[in-house]
Amino acid sequence: MRVLVVEDEERLAIALRRGLQAEGFAVDIAGDGQDGLELARHGDYDAMILDVMLPRLSGYRVVRQLRAEHKWLPVLMLSAKDGEYDQADGLDCGADDYLTKPFSYVVLLARLRALLRRGTPERPTVLSHGDVELDPALRKVTVAGEEVVLTAREFALLEYLIRRPGEVVSKTELLDHVWDAALETAANAVEVYVGYLRRKIGRERLETVRGAGYRLAVAGA
Ligand code: CA
Repeated sequence: MRVLVVEDEERLAIALRRGLQAEGFAVDIAGDGQDGLELARHGDYDAMILDVMLPRLSGYRVVRQLRAEHKWLPVLMLSAKDGEYDQADGLDCGADDYLTKPFSYVVLLARLRALLRRGTPERPTVLSHGDVELDPALRKVTVAGEEVVLTAREFALLEYLIRRPGEVVSKTELLDHVWDAALETAANAVEVYVGYLRRKIGRERLETVRGAGYRLAVAGA
């Protein structure tokens, strides 16, 4: 198993390499984000340990870029506990797990092994169906390459549907998952919002399946 360590604190990088080598891993080190990205692109790594705060390119940008290029190697992020950086940001960017510094080496090893067991299935951070793309982290939607601005509710509705591509989703299910159960929701709320969404993404992309619910369709298919 070959692991890439991207860490600019030299002492930590060397300690990690020594420890991982002792466990039988082959280890390469990059000292900044740009070098890390290049190595990850071209090297055949089984996993990457990636610091967040790096010279030249942050760990967030490295992992986001890799995922955008459909590189799915497992990424364990190391973040400093300064409150400015948030674990959720790392995961939204496409990291698989994180540890906050200072961390226990035993825990790092256990997390790394867990990631290696999972392998490298595709884990896109951008969801797509036909020519509709939705990025949950950036809250951005494009249709046929053009950005479409949605309200929070429209976005939530589209996100729910796009996570169930090709499936018919009932009105009740949409009410349960997209609307706050605590609020009293008018029975026709779903129909109203489906109408708004259709106007923005194109009618042909959101089908009504009579008596059953709604389904996201592929335009022109
Ligand atoms: Ca650092």
